[in-house]
Amino acid sequence: MISVNRIKIDELDAAMGRLRASATFDAGSLATLEHFICTAEDAQLYHMNPLVLADELGLTKAQATEMFLQGGKIGLFTLHWGLVCPQCGDVVQSVNALGKVGSHIDCRICNLTVEADLDDCVAVTFNVADTVIPNRFSNPELLSIEDYLSHHRFIHAGLTVDGKPYQKVFAQFLRAADFVEPNITKEYSVNLDAGWLRLFDYLAEDGLTLKINGEPSLICQSIEVELGSGSPRVNHLNLSPGPALLRIKTDSRRRPFTVNNFPTTWTLPARVKQPMLTGKMLLNNATFRELYGSDVIESAAGLRIKDLTFLFTDLKGSTELYEKVGDMRAFQLVHDHFQALSTSITSNQGTIVKTIGDAVMATFLTPIDAVNAAVDMLGAIADFNRTLGREEIILKIGIHTGAAIAVTQNDRLDYFGQTVNVAARVQALANADEICITEEVADSDSVGSVINTLGASTEQARIKGISDLVRVYRLKPLASRRAA
Ligand SMILES: [Zn+2]
Repeated sequence: MISVNRIKIDELDAAMGRLRASATFDAGSLATLEHFICTAEDAQLYHMNPLVLADELGLTKAQATEMFLQGGKIGLFTLHWGLVCPQCGDVVQSVNALGKVGSHIDCRICNLTVEADLDDCVAVTFNVADTVIPNRFSNPELLSIEDYLSHHRFIHAGLTVDGKPYQKVFAQFLRAADFVEPNITKEYSVNLDAGWLRLFDYLAEDGLTLKINGEPSLICQSIEVELGSGSPRVNHLNLSPGPALLRIKTDSRRRPFTVNNFPTTWTLPARVKQPMLTGKMLLNNATFRELYGSDVIESAAGLRIKDLTFLFTDLKGSTELYEKVGDMRAFQLVHDHFQALSTSITSNQGTIVKTIGDAVMATFLTPIDAVNAAVDMLGAIADFNRTLGREEIILKIGIHTGAAIAVTQNDRLDYFGQTVNVAARVQALANADEICITEEVADSDSVGSVINTLGASTEQARIKGISDLVRVYRLKPLASRRAA
């Protein structure tokens, strides 16, 4: 159903104007986006996922992400950070800024408490701002229970391995699902099978599991359920298979609830996750860092990342460079070399976290991207030196990959942890025009073939702060290129 009437045309025009001015999107892409916004149904405009919408908008995933991030900044969209249960895909908590994301996920549906990581458990979606198009899904109070579950709670649920919506896994065992209104007792006639009865109150974020076993009951069992803060309260703790009347009432609040009857031996099947714009992807996104980088991570312990690749560069003999050409000229050379490195980093899906003196710290989602960027950098700096007519800038690069903690430091999104330390120290081992990578990087997807092509020497190195020796591979792409 297309209902153009709900669109605030002036607001939309103004927002599209701001988006046009904010970045260089081509006119065709902007027109496609505007057409989509004007013709899509409320459900399509709620919790939009740029990775899923990219095809429909005729954009790459990177372009769609950029457009939604810019659109969020200028007020066309609002951003929603969801803490997603890794098991069932329920959005356990939803906040409006990265800084407010908590460090743990407590899914009461799965009875699972895990440390939240930015790789799999934190995802961003976008709504068209209500000032532009009021969306009926913005008000869960007015939704049916089906819409509430599908569009609020299980938006990242994905599919089963057989390709069915994962939420249907629960639906097949559903005996009742509803909003229960204050001061009204709602009744549901159900037939119970041996197994478990799971009552869940989505407002209290709490549930109760009752055992159903023994001889079938011939009379109808009356189950009184009271919803309120905490887990539901019932008058029966043990139920028999057979007919039952569920009588559900709530306190003074309207509460969404579900009642499932799971067979005794049932377990959650595997879930195929849908692509999500994760917290890790955004921290590794230059546009996000530019527009939203001042979001302060409030969690004192930082936010966990299971796997990220860190690249450090530094200049060999920079003191001599300053001595030889003077501060002004050296500053210009260092500045120009940053430009060259930046191009190599962004063209390999990486982002610069910061520069430290003459050094650069960058991150990548995969080790192969970092290695490709490093090879690019050495080529770019060789070209740069060629235009100068002499070898003024000499680069040394180090790469390591692993877990890290995202933190806010000096008003900037930064990283902390042993992986970062090792990456910096591996960089310090590198000689002129050399890339030092750790075994973890060398063993990663596709890096082996780069090593095979370029050749590498390896050694066991001692690194400050690490008790074991670290296997390091030395790559010299310029020497390999000259030899070829
Ligand atoms: Zn769960």
